[in-house]
Amino acid sequence: MTFSREQIERGRSYHRPRYLTELADFALGVGMLALLAFTGLGDELLPGWSWWAQALVYPAIVLGLVALVRLPIAHWRDYVREHRWGLSTQSLRGWLADVAKGFAVSVLLATILLFGLVALARWSDTWPLVAAPLAAGFVVFFTFVAPVVLEPIFNRFKPLEDQELAADLRGLSERVGVPVRDVLVADASRRTTKSNAYVSGFGATRRVVLYDTLLEKMKPAELRAVLAHELAHRKHGDVARLSAIFVGAAIGLVALLWAVLGDEASDPRNIPLAILVVVLATPVVFAGLAAIARRAEYRADRFALAVTRDLGALESAFTGLVDANVADLDPPRVVYYLKYTHPTVLERLDALRRTARDEGLEAA
Ligand SMILES: [Zn+2]
Repeated sequence: MTFSREQIERGRSYHRPRYLTELADFALGVGMLALLAFTGLGDELLPGWSWWAQALVYPAIVLGLVALVRLPIAHWRDYVREHRWGLSTQSLRGWLADVAKGFAVSVLLATILLFGLVALARWSDTWPLVAAPLAAGFVVFFTFVAPVVLEPIFNRFKPLEDQELAADLRGLSERVGVPVRDVLVADASRRTTKSNAYVSGFGATRRVVLYDTLLEKMKPAELRAVLAHELAHRKHGDVARLSAIFVGAAIGLVALLWAVLGDEASDPRNIPLAILVVVLATPVVFAGLAAIARRAEYRADRFALAVTRDLGALESAFTGLVDANVADLDPPRVVYYLKYTHPTVLERLDALRRTARDEGLEAA
């Protein structure tokens, strides 16, 4: 047994209330949207302006109300409770700034998409034929610019300072055939004590990002193992694959909006209904996405083991992450299928040990 009963219990008591608040969040959002879509409340809030002015302001009004009813729960879950667990390093002001930035980004994106929807539907009743390729193009463009436009809103990134480690990691990336220009370090520590690493972007914006909290806690061999895992995502084209699936999902959502709204999409008063349709479809889309992402995680783990041949480093990296992030080692199945883009650490360690045994690699 790799983990103690205490570690399993700790993960459980940290995460179970979080899952419940996420469910409450979802229910509150759906309730608010339904209220705006199906009662006279929405019409009262919408100024009697011309269609384009309405389509420009209504997304912000709707999302503002949704954010407002969710705010108390978000504050308790992401601020009060994170401090209680010793995981947050943020002041209330910093947290509120993050919330405001997140809200501004979502309003901007929603306004572009919803204004586009209303405008296209007014222009032609064959609007889905134009909306579908536009939505697909938007997803690809967004994946491409996110690392240089979206991510810097929330974090600062700089190249790895430790030259020896940087050279070591660059050597690894060349050896596995995925040369990276920069391994970037994100200043996650100004928000949290949790650690992570990820890949994002493609083409000129592709990058590997390590949290500074990860660098603090991990030994070089463990960092090499984590980087090998992230490079595997690059090598296997996982960012592009997920982006392609998002393209499919975006086209599916356009079809769904068409089925529900038809010509009525041209009326800005139906904006809450349009958002509601997307919100209700999201868990289904996400569950499919998560299943595909979990397979990619197993594949990246196997790759990391094959290139580092260091099962011990992977094991200790994983156990370090379980402690730093209070990972849930045993999530409820329904939660697992709906939101786990990664297999549990227990599943990943089991799979790694099986592979190591099959390939005759010694466990450390
Ligand atoms: Zn991964």
